[in-house]
Amino acid sequence: MDNILEKANLTHNLTKKELVEILSNSDFDKDLFFVANNIRKKFLGDEVHLRGLIEFSNICKCSCKYCGLRKENSALERYRLTEEEIIDFAKKASQYGYKTVVLQSGEDASFSIEKMCRIIKEIKNFDLAITLSIGEKTYEEYKAYKEAGADRYLIRIETTDKELYKQMHPNMSFENRIQCLRDLKELGYEVGSGCLVGLPNQTTESLANDILFFKEIDADMIGIGPFIPNPNTPLSKENGGKFKLALKVMALTRILMPTINIPATTAMETLNPNGRIIALQSGANVVMPNVTEGDYRRKYEIYPGKICINDKPSQCRNCIEAKIKSIGRTISKDYGFHKKICNKKDR
Ligand code: SAH
Repeated sequence: MDNILEKANLTHNLTKKELVEILSNSDFDKDLFFVANNIRKKFLGDEVHLRGLIEFSNICKCSCKYCGLRKENSALERYRLTEEEIIDFAKKASQYGYKTVVLQSGEDASFSIEKMCRIIKEIKNFDLAITLSIGEKTYEEYKAYKEAGADRYLIRIETTDKELYKQMHPNMSFENRIQCLRDLKELGYEVGSGCLVGLPNQTTESLANDILFFKEIDADMIGIGPFIPNPNTPLSKENGGKFKLALKVMALTRILMPTINIPATTAMETLNPNGRIIALQSGANVVMPNVTEGDYRRKYEIYPGKICINDKPSQCRNCIEAKIKSIGRTISKDYGFHKKICNKKDR
């Protein structure tokens, strides 16, 4: 096993068999996290990029079996921020020192192309990079957002296991999700994807395929989080994902993709009170603190036990900054674009 990690450390390549071997054996976890952390340090240094997350609507037309925003969930109180509120939260995020805002929502059709483009253009006045995370759209929509000033787009593949994808996403198509990723790359976005870890019937083989898929699509960012069962979804009685396994998938992604941006996800912190810091010490280099204000945070209930639902944006900012500094890392002052290194030998 040590040989596999040594090879990975030097070549940033692993076969599916090797990935499965590492994922299914816990004896070398410490070495795995150590190698991933060193690769992060070697390629990206000690800077952590902060992204201010604005959860602007929890209204969704999809029925993803794991997600609390699914349209069938009548227990969820729905909300939609106004254009003015979204722009105001973004302005405040820039005043807190963020260089990127992430606009995330359910698939809410009331945000037309025109409305989204207006919001994007206004936010661009605050000297912020913009990441969108609003689901599957047409090529024309993605093109319009890009022209309006959006820089990055997050759309997790969730799982590359086609059968499992079908089970988890009624009325959706795996092929279309892949097409979205292709369209976004072609349009010049920095493209983020990722997966859930611990879905019912998800195998170690399929997680290995997920990691190889991230490399194959040449992703710029990869977010990985454990599946956390939501009581108001069809998966309420299922076992959730394990923190350790999600961390291992993340660490392996870092080893295979040394320069990409990898967030220490909120779902990780939900399962472990120190989850984001542990993730930052196992390959991650990004944190996405919430900058949504008021009661909306609680209502954006994708899964239960979400952290910081009663906190204000300024508290989140100070809290995470103190934690990051306590482990000897610094907060980046730049936009935090993917720092690609051209030397092929190093990639
Ligand atoms: N509508 C957007 C944003 C979805 S919410 C889109 O389609 O991309 C953001 C992410 O939350 C999802 O990509 C999913 O991976 C994650 N998520 C949803 N339900 C979850 C759960 N029960 N546990 C953990 N993560 C979940």
